[in-house]
Amino acid sequence: MRDLVHHLADRKVDAIKLLSEGACACAGSPPYVWRNAAFPVAVELVRLPLDFLRSGIETGHERGLRVTVHTTQQAAAREAIEAGADGLEHGVTVEPITDHSLVELMLERDITYTPTLWIHDATHPDTRGNVKKVADAGVRIALGSDTFSGRGLFGANTLEEAELMVAAGMTPVQSLVAATSGAARQCVRPDLGTVAPGKRADLIVLTADPTQDISNLRALGMTILNGEIVVDKR
Ligand SMILES: [Zn+2]
Repeated sequence: MRDLVHHLADRKVDAIKLLSEGACACAGSPPYVWRNAAFPVAVELVRLPLDFLRSGIETGHERGLRVTVHTTQQAAAREAIEAGADGLEHGVTVEPITDHSLVELMLERDITYTPTLWIHDATHPDTRGNVKKVADAGVRIALGSDTFSGRGLFGANTLEEAELMVAAGMTPVQSLVAATSGAARQCVRPDLGTVAPGKRADLIVLTADPTQDISNLRALGMTILNGEIVVDKR
């Protein structure tokens, strides 16, 4: 695990994500096999032993990288946070969050919760309620698209995710914060996510107010990329 994280750090990755459990995550279920068109060989996922999880997190931190952990269950989420993770990818999706001390732990350790509702919403009915619960408690939420995961569309999933966050009970402003400064913080990109002098000018200009209706994110007027206008619908 340490060698792998060093290998990735040497290749200048932005962050480390560890999978602590297979995405099916059901006790006694057959091994979870992950298939993705981008990878020629199917990958069997098993629960990562705790010492591996700790080693991966520690090594990432030694190399100055944030380390997040893919989880779907409360027990795995707790284990990841206790092992030192900076964030939970997906969070708790396959069961309702019934353990309030887990939410307290998220707040205490200042972890970021990245829901990826567009993937889990249809198959896991508890996902939305869990997002609302942690958002209401004040846990930091980041909008992450997980678009690479097979059936995604870059850009489109981000808009869908922002809308689903609001459908889950977050306010439009909470959703916008998750998509901008929340995500920038999670990725350790202080140059992104806020509009201020000295920041990178990556902006979209909308023709309607997204704080009133999050779907107004689709009312694109202009896209400015690193200070250059690249789309202009005026
Ligand atoms: Zn994941």
